[in-house]
Amino acid sequence: MSAFKTLDDLGDVNGKVALVRVDLNLPMQDGAVTDDTRIRAAAPTILELSEKGAKVLLLAHFGRPKGERVPNQSLSMVVGAVETTLGKEVMFVPEVTGDVVKQAVGILRAGDIAILENTRFWKGEEKNDPELAAAIAANGDFYVNDAFSAAHRAHATTEGLAKVLPAYAGRSMQAELEALEKALGTPEKPVAAVVGGAKVSSKLDVLKHLVTQVDHLIIGGGMANTFLAAKGVDVGKSLCEHDLTDTANEILATADGAGCTVHLPYDVVVSKEFAANPPSLRTCNVHEVAADEMILDAGPNAAETLGDVLKNCRTLVWNGPLGAFEMEPFDAATVALAKTAAALTADGSLVSVAGGGDTVAALNHAGVAQDFSYISTAGGAFLEWMEGKELPGVAALEV
Ligand code: ADP
Ligand code: MG
Repeated sequence: MSAFKTLDDLGDVNGKVALVRVDLNLPMQDGAVTDDTRIRAAAPTILELSEKGAKVLLLAHFGRPKGERVPNQSLSMVVGAVETTLGKEVMFVPEVTGDVVKQAVGILRAGDIAILENTRFWKGEEKNDPELAAAIAANGDFYVNDAFSAAHRAHATTEGLAKVLPAYAGRSMQAELEALEKALGTPEKPVAAVVGGAKVSSKLDVLKHLVTQVDHLIIGGGMANTFLAAKGVDVGKSLCEHDLTDTANEILATADGAGCTVHLPYDVVVSKEFAANPPSLRTCNVHEVAADEMILDAGPNAAETLGDVLKNCRTLVWNGPLGAFEMEPFDAATVALAKTAAALTADGSLVSVAGGGDTVAALNHAGVAQDFSYISTAGGAFLEWMEGKELPGVAALEV
């Protein structure tokens, strides 16, 4: 990772206009914001700029309005929630360019905050139109990107603006980049990766990249079944992508050549029904799965062995649960390994970074999310980082 500027590099910004890209794509129900995690993530940057006396103009997208003004996707709906979380009054500006924004800037005093309209109401946003970027930039003095979760997209407000204004990473972006650098950029070795979840097909590029980067690759969840099947194991009725047998074997061969040890479960928890606490629940060796059974979690012996792998590692990057953790008792292996990782992190022997929607839910369910070194809430961007891809929004910040 090359260097990027942060808020520490700002000079005197008193009275200057900051264009700040944040993630306000908030979960809503019946017109009300149901979770303010993303606002809380952006708050340190917004408040720091405000305290330094900048006029803070927030830029964000909401939903997928595809370049049209869609009234029920207006960012005016989130203003109240942002005010509550920040504890400050926030102005709403129903445009992103032109005189309306210019007049708003004239009304704002140093330290005041405004939210501009949903950037995706303009077609140029997703097309990364330089004219739109220039028109937005015309009302600002500098640009801050605090939306890592949108950095995998080259859009006008995630990438284009960084080319036409002095550009800085916000505090949340900075924290994310520093954590990911520690996990996969220049990690302390040995490095372990846990990749789980439903399907190999959704994480093929992650697996292909990781086997060249890490010392131990722990494969769990539904995708482990595809690897087991590729090795000749009969996985019964388990979720399994049989058409990916060759791909799975290629990944295993690449791992072998790169000195990466791949860990697959050797005992598993199975049942005949896809349901919580089913009557047919049992634990068995992977070679004993019956034709009418499904593998729904890694077994207790596998979970313990995987814990021992982590004990010998210094860095862990985790995406995807080891089982169908939404249903008891198929959360057991994920919870056990998460607790081990949390304890090792607390001891200072492991740097642990995790990301992914279901992964974060699973770690919260295990009660250990706060004990990990870093949890990324950026879904797509986190996965693309794990694929080793350069994120345009991050690349544009590089100096
Ligand atoms: P993330 O959102 O963290 O990237 P994924 O969406 O890839 O994770 O995977 C999570 C899903 O995988 C969960 O819904 C979980 O129930 C499912 N899953 C995990 N193991 C299995 C399994 N053995 N069989 C079926 N589904 C599974
Ligand atoms: Mg998911």
